Amino acid sequence: MGSSPISGIKGEIYSKKSAFWKEGFFCFKEFVQLQLNYLDWDSEGVQSRKCYETAVKHGKPVIVMEPVKGGTLARVPESVEKIFRECHPEMSIPSWAIRFAASQDYVMMVLSGMSNMEQLTDNMSYMSDFQPLNEKEQALVKKAVDIINSNIAVPCTGCSYCTEGCPQHIAIPKYFSLYNADMQEIKEKAWRPQGEYYDRLTLTFGKASDCLECGQCEQACPQHLPIIQYLKDVAARFETQS
Ligand code: SF4
Ligand code: SF4
Repeated sequence: MGSSPISGIKGEIYSKKSAFWKEGFFCFKEFVQLQLNYLDWDSEGVQSRKCYETAVKHGKPVIVMEPVKGGTLARVPESVEKIFRECHPEMSIPSWAIRFAASQDYVMMVLSGMSNMEQLTDNMSYMSDFQPLNEKEQALVKKAVDIINSNIAVPCTGCSYCTEGCPQHIAIPKYFSLYNADMQEIKEKAWRPQGEYYDRLTLTFGKASDCLECGQCEQACPQHLPIIQYLKDVAARFETQS
């Protein structure tokens, strides 16, 4: 770890609250950098909330990466955009994502990649005198998540009833969550983290392609999902990438 928590960090850095920055977090020599955004907050695959809560438990401040999910949360469905615009016509769509990340108490910085002056000006407009999301805004973000997730590729609820008897110890709901997250990414995004998360999980669990097609999981699934076929989709997406 470098001598300063910000040394070596590439990209644009904002302090959320100047008081926090000066009085508390700046003196920390350790921090945790997490992918954290409102869509990944409760996702079974990325687990932003659980990772954040673990950092809090250990007293480590958090630096956020992917607050806009690589641009994905700048291009939300029309119905979500309408909800946000009705609440704050003057605020940009990405501002909701960055403010969500910065609103978490233990977040000391939010890293936001910007490609032009317009984006810089926009970010500064709400970060220079930062106001955390209020209750109403939090509820709108939750609604946005529900709308976005209603179009997910695999409607798995994450109940895990399917995993106990799997002879290959395949992390079925985790893989489906990563698959859904990957399908939600915009096509232009150069780097997608879900493939890396998948690779790491396969160090502990069986791969999707290890499935023996025994059918145990499908009998256990209360949603009656065609798990075997979905696992083939997962394998095709994550196991054929270089
Ligand atoms: S069908 Fe595949 S995923 Fe399902 S229990 Fe059998 S081996 Fe596991
Ligand atoms: S039992 Fe079905 S809904 Fe539950 S985690 Fe497994 S695949 Fe998902």
